[in-house]
Amino acid sequence: MLVFIVMIVSGTFMMQRVRSNEIANAKDQLEKYAELIYDQNVRGNDTPGGVKQAFSGKYLREDIQVCVLDAASQNQVIAPADFADRNMRFLDSSITAAMNGKTGFSVGNRAVDLNDAVKEWINCAVPVFDTADGSKVRYIIFTRTDAASMNSGLADILRTIVIMVIIAMLLTGVMGFLFANTLTGPIINLTRRAKQMARGNLNQVIPVRSSDEIGQLTETINNMASELNRYIGNLNSEKNKTEAVLHNMTDGVLAYDSSGKLIHANYASYELVRLGEAELLNMPAAEMLEYLGLGDGAASLESTIAAGDRFVSASLAPYQNADGAVEGFVIVLQDVTKLKKLDNMRKEFVANVSHELRTPLTTIKTYTETLLDGADPDTSREFLGVIDSETDRMSLLVRDLLELSRFDNQQLILEIETVDLNAVVAQCIRQNEILAHQKEQTISFEPPAGECFIEADAGRVNQVITNIISNSVKYSQEKALIEINLAETPKYYHLHIKDNGIGIPKDDLPRIFERFYRVDKTRSRAMGGTGLGLAIAREIMEAHGGKITVSSEYGKGTTMSLRFNRSEAGKP
Ligand code: ADP
Repeated sequence: MLVFIVMIVSGTFMMQRVRSNEIANAKDQLEKYAELIYDQNVRGNDTPGGVKQAFSGKYLREDIQVCVLDAASQNQVIAPADFADRNMRFLDSSITAAMNGKTGFSVGNRAVDLNDAVKEWINCAVPVFDTADGSKVRYIIFTRTDAASMNSGLADILRTIVIMVIIAMLLTGVMGFLFANTLTGPIINLTRRAKQMARGNLNQVIPVRSSDEIGQLTETINNMASELNRYIGNLNSEKNKTEAVLHNMTDGVLAYDSSGKLIHANYASYELVRLGEAELLNMPAAEMLEYLGLGDGAASLESTIAAGDRFVSASLAPYQNADGAVEGFVIVLQDVTKLKKLDNMRKEFVANVSHELRTPLTTIKTYTETLLDGADPDTSREFLGVIDSETDRMSLLVRDLLELSRFDNQQLILEIETVDLNAVVAQCIRQNEILAHQKEQTISFEPPAGECFIEADAGRVNQVITNIISNSVKYSQEKALIEINLAETPKYYHLHIKDNGIGIPKDDLPRIFERFYRVDKTRSRAMGGTGLGLAIAREIMEAHGGKITVSSEYGKGTTMSLRFNRSEAGKP
């Protein structure tokens, strides 16, 4: 377009210049010719006849026609004869100007030639003044030349210009196409690759084909892609780490955005709130907060709910973005069942202790009051006996409690030495023999040959075994059989104390090592049990690095098993 406009403007300008040059040239020639005619044929001829006479009738120049017009007789042609004879009349603006005493000039007027052909002319009319009256126009020398030659010259130029424009346009077109191709080709390629990168394909490298701006741009895009790739890789691995952590956490995490949409929920959260995955994902934030007891206002940022057989604590915390604006909130869920159970156990323990102490105290109080009211010596003796045994019971209970408390506070000091387990068991049997005999029970023990050494506090181990044997005696009918058996493995000694007594119901089995737990409270109390014996036994076994387990069938009998670590001295 630019080339086209420039060519057209400059062409038009050139045409104008050439035309005005041509016209100026023609005017000059016509004027000069008129002057020549004046000098040769008109000067000094006062009459038209004279002028006609003087006019030779032939032209000095073929390309210019000349006529002398008589201004006095409406510009009649005086000479030359061929124009005068045909009585030709010229009507032109140049003649009007000459009539007014000025040299006139006109271009492009159409008029007939001698052969009656209509042509376009360049006309010039020069006035010749009267010799007597200098202000009066006497003749007009009218010269004209055919404009055709000038026009054809101009047409030639115009044609040349048009051809030049066409050639220039073609050249521009071809050059433009080639140039655009070399420039836009790489850009189109680059754009295509950049779009692929934008879709996430960041692993490709665009080949750099030149060192120009496009080449530099390509290199920059390649660098950017590899940086982005690395950055996204880092982000992904961070995300995976976080997800792995969240997934494997035992605490539940629920994250909501500011619009209340659930954006993250880990596996533990489904488990803890006891909701199905779909139910949890579809539950609106407000409903979830209400479900977790976090609903009413901002004050309740923490709560504990019972979900199924568990207790779950939920705490709510908002999270913010880098600018400090709140972006949402996180709910962290924790299984506090154990804590809750511990708390319950503590309460239960206090209640148990109070209860255990209150019973003998009440008895003592009643008997004492009766004694104070006065009683006969026999009754007094009997009552004092009851008070004595109840006091024993209480002091036994307090002793056991103190012992447990020492275990809890890790204040109990074990006097560890190398002990022969065979000997300890034999001693315990002896201690329980009287009781067993009373119920006509048999305690059997086949000690393994040789000594079974363990590192232990002999007194404490004795306490454990005696307690178990005495339980077997207590909770078995008369004439029952209590079998004691000591087995050895490379690392341990296993002591099994088996009775065929009343046994323990399956539901109670896991709890018999708990403090104050008794299957049958009245029976236990009647037998002088505090319900702390097995709890102390377990503490002692654990303090020795050993273990105590129970297996029992209700109504058939119980087996208590003790596992001791073998002493280095006794190892095979
Ligand atoms: P207790 O002082 O009541 O004997 P323990 O802690 O020694 O307390 O025992 C806890 C409970 O376990 C007993 O009350 C009893 O119900 C049960 N138990 C323990 N040993 C036996 C056994 N050999 N046979 C049946 N029940 C037993």
